[in-house]
Amino acid sequence: MHFFRSPLVARILFPGGLWKGKDKNAVYLTFDDGPNPHVTPWVLELLKRQEIKATFFLVGNNIKQNPELVAKIESEGHRIGNHTMNHERGTKTKLDVYLNSVNEVDRLINSDLFRPPYGRISFWQFLKLLKNGKKIIFWSWLSYDFDNQISTEKIIEKAKKIKGGDILVFHDSEKSFSNLKGSIEKIICEIKAKNLSFKTL
Ligand SMILES: [Zn+2]
Repeated sequence: MHFFRSPLVARILFPGGLWKGKDKNAVYLTFDDGPNPHVTPWVLELLKRQEIKATFFLVGNNIKQNPELVAKIESEGHRIGNHTMNHERGTKTKLDVYLNSVNEVDRLINSDLFRPPYGRISFWQFLKLLKNGKKIIFWSWLSYDFDNQISTEKIIEKAKKIKGGDILVFHDSEKSFSNLKGSIEKIICEIKAKNLSFKTL
């Protein structure tokens, strides 16, 4: 099953998290798991050509390997956020290990935005990070670009339901690149045709 829309139960469990953006005349485009030397430059070119800004949730190990890409993302007017050091799944990681992972990324970049990998986070991890001043960003629409069982046509079809206020997730990772290349520009054009603008978080 593919849940393009985030399930209501998750929204109820984490009420202090952000599932939708405030501006109903805009959508919030986000890219997770980079920076990646192969995919991120392609995404940045696309965003420049389309004249839109996005938010990138970066994995610490990838930041360490590609610091120049982090600088490029920021210098081109996009926002960055913390996505843990090693893409840990919160529900399978001890509280202190998880918090250390987030702190380690905080030493590499400066951002109050945090997105839990897989959207999986324990209640205590969630509360502790909120208390530490993090804005915890989930999503309202997931592209499934990372899933090679899904066709780009299906992603484009599902994207027709995108509306104002939606937080959209794509990935600047190797395994998503084929679906990303095949779908995202078309999706951006359809969103623009609905007279919605693009904002960062
Ligand atoms: Zn991720």
